[in-house]
Amino acid sequence: MTVAVYLPLAEKTQWWVEMLQGLLPGWDVVSMHDEIDPGAVTYGVVWRPRTGDLAGFPNLKAIVSIGAGIDHVLADAELPEGVPIIRTVGKDLTQRMREYVALHVLRHHRDMPRQLQAQAESDWHAIVVPVAPNRVVGVMGLGNLGAAAAQTLAGLGFDTRGWSKSPKDLDGVSCFTGTGEMDAFLDGCEILVNLLPLTDQTRGILNADLFAKLAPGACVINCARGPHLVDTDLLAALESGQIKQATLDVFHQEPLPADNPFWTHPAITVTPHVASQIDAGTGGRLIAANLKAFEETGTCGDLADAARGY
Ligand code: NDP
Repeated sequence: MTVAVYLPLAEKTQWWVEMLQGLLPGWDVVSMHDEIDPGAVTYGVVWRPRTGDLAGFPNLKAIVSIGAGIDHVLADAELPEGVPIIRTVGKDLTQRMREYVALHVLRHHRDMPRQLQAQAESDWHAIVVPVAPNRVVGVMGLGNLGAAAAQTLAGLGFDTRGWSKSPKDLDGVSCFTGTGEMDAFLDGCEILVNLLPLTDQTRGILNADLFAKLAPGACVINCARGPHLVDTDLLAALESGQIKQATLDVFHQEPLPADNPFWTHPAITVTPHVASQIDAGTGGRLIAANLKAFEETGTCGDLADAARGY
């Protein structure tokens, strides 16, 4: 079995090649940055593959996304049709996202940006906020990450809502389904967390129309994908006060260019796509286990559905 690995940086790819080789004795693990025999490659393990790379392997059995999202794989206009795509998920990824969402929701809930501003001015300014059960938070997307995040927020006592495509039943979370219930989900929502996959239906979903349906002065946390957000609509909503604060972990272009206004905006917190970066060792073990299972059985637990886009 030959596994070809691609990450944008050749050095990082080589690190993954060596790590996966150690986990897959008897298999051949190679870098797509090197000259390789395309006919020998049976699996591709990729993060943001180059257009046409995967189409060059005629004997590909499956493609592995190094990460939970598969949008970066589907973005390849020449992606070979019908080749199964395996996601890399797991407890580690979910735990990290729970931590990130709890941190930033609590930060907005307690108005820490304003509190830190007061400290900078040596101002003994006591900010009293509602208790969590009187704070409405909403999570868009109730998959592996969104469901765990929503339940973490419910566990902290927040009045928690969730929104997904198909109906869900989650302890402590009021669940809303589909476009028909989207307005009810957004109505009165004070802190909104986006954990949707990036698809044709969700691209640009964080836009002026959506912001207008939230509670005035709401906070938005985008930890899914940059193209979910219409950047100019966020800047306008911050300007008008409809949105008070935003935390952004993901961007249209990553790394975020130095001249992007988000970097210096007083009401925006920027983090560099670290909400839940899979630990390479853990990710490697999950990928190796999925590859072995797929090779033995022709399937594995983390298969994505390319037709629906996630
Ligand atoms: P899943 O595929 O497990 O879940 C996706 C959820 O979104 C499902 O509940 C699905 O509904 C819902 N959904 C999809 N399309 C729609 C729609 N049109 N309307 C309403 N709901 C919809 O994804 P994960 O939870 O594993 O990951 C979510 C995203 O998080 C990833 O795609 C990735 O982009 C991002 N991510 C970001 C990271 C970071 O560090 N910033 C790290 C890892 C992931 P249903 O259940 O009904 O199908």
